[in-house]
Amino acid sequence: MEKFILSIDQGTTSSRAILFDKLGHERYSAYREVKCLFPKPGWVEQDALSLWVSVIDVINEVLVKANITFSAIDSIGISNQRETTVIWDKETGMPIYNAIVWQSRQTSYICDRYSKYKDLIHEKTGLLINPYFSASKIRFILDNVENGQQRAEAGELMCGTIDTWLVYRLTKSETFATDVSNASRTMLFNINTMEWDEELLSLFNIPKCILPEVKPSSYDYGAATFFSKDVHIRGVAGDQQAALFGHTCFNQGDSKNTYGTGCFMLMNTGDTPIYSKNGLLTTIAWQIGDKVTYAIEGSVFIGGAVVQWLRDQMRMIDYAAQSEDEALKSSSTHGVYIVPAFVGLGTPYWDDNARGAVFGLTRGSNKSHFIRAALDSIDYQCKDVFDVMVKETGNNISSLKVDGGATQNNYLMQFQADILSTTIEVAKCHEITALGVCYLAGLNSGFYSSLEAVSEIHENEKVFPPKMSKKEINTLCKGWKAAVKATRAFKPEG
Ligand code: ADP
Repeated sequence: MEKFILSIDQGTTSSRAILFDKLGHERYSAYREVKCLFPKPGWVEQDALSLWVSVIDVINEVLVKANITFSAIDSIGISNQRETTVIWDKETGMPIYNAIVWQSRQTSYICDRYSKYKDLIHEKTGLLINPYFSASKIRFILDNVENGQQRAEAGELMCGTIDTWLVYRLTKSETFATDVSNASRTMLFNINTMEWDEELLSLFNIPKCILPEVKPSSYDYGAATFFSKDVHIRGVAGDQQAALFGHTCFNQGDSKNTYGTGCFMLMNTGDTPIYSKNGLLTTIAWQIGDKVTYAIEGSVFIGGAVVQWLRDQMRMIDYAAQSEDEALKSSSTHGVYIVPAFVGLGTPYWDDNARGAVFGLTRGSNKSHFIRAALDSIDYQCKDVFDVMVKETGNNISSLKVDGGATQNNYLMQFQADILSTTIEVAKCHEITALGVCYLAGLNSGFYSSLEAVSEIHENEKVFPPKMSKKEINTLCKGWKAAVKATRAFKPEG
């Protein structure tokens, strides 16, 4: 009988279940949208029970589609939206508050109280103080649910990121654990000692007994007895780290970039954490056996979102792919630059106050120039992250592995290869995050024999070699830098 790995990808907007075969090919998949709740401006929450139900649904559906039972499943891998936090009652297993989603800003005021600890927090966790990470979300729930702190201290509550919640439910309360990649996004995990950090726990007044055990990413988390006592969960990782693994970025310097709504670039930095002075985050990529691999991460807030903006707000295109045809109607942007700082600028500028701008308009400027400039802005922002990464790690990136919806745009990918002077490799698998945890699970079960064997089956869909001269790159990038500088200098109130 043919066997499969069942990968679950629980994201912010959807849950997916995918069956991968021995060659790492996606054979069957099922998908459910999940709802976000917006109780107040800037707040984003989700019903943790609905997330669990959506996972049950997609697992059942994918098995029905494949016409198989659990006897054909070798093992299960789970990747998840990172940082999103759930707290539930140990006795009943019911959440005591909605899951607070990574994007939510509702705990900014808590983070503000800790700003004087920013160096300590960076040194211990590799992170910058921000409401994204779990620590302030846990604090918020314990403060806002009746007797929250008291119940936590009495050991009546359990707290986890979405991986922990799903593993707990799938194993019918047997396993209360998280993997190192998820733990490293809580702002409570010391990435040097590989333990929950006592000093940070006491700063945030979070009792250690509510936190899960931290395990390797490729590890036997126990049987998924909710479905079958014979099938074990053997791979767990946060989505971006899972994607790095899915791209087979197994060696130091190997890097990937995901072009979704925003862009997330991660580089494998090997067995030592590298600390950035320019706002890159240091994080744990994964752990296999005793071997811990670190990564450095940078993000662009508005990536593919600028294309959605062209479609929905500017009404210049009807669908995303049309942006490529429009861009190719001219041979350049004719000097037009767009800086899509709609919500500020991320790495390496970290400017919350900047707002979007367009430069270089003339009587000759047209829609094609504008759309091309918008696409280019995604690539320029990624280049800014890339340049800092290369500089701070000392690693040369000779090829960048990419995935995400916007990688379907060949113009975008070629221009990226050109201005980075680096080959761009688009993965054949469009569910690279799920593939990452498929590999992690399969390596634990023996479905895949080694990292080398996994590298051998990995396939690219397209490769874009760089074609632009250094002189041309310099001229274009000078314009971009000037545009960013002017954008940041713009103060409408003087
Ligand atoms: P997410 O996981 O963040 O929802 P996806 O990986 O599904 O993102 O990619 C969706 C994003 O990619 C959208 O922002 C969309 O505008 C953009 N996108 C999709 N297709 C194209 C295309 N052909 N050209 C440019 N952008 C695209």
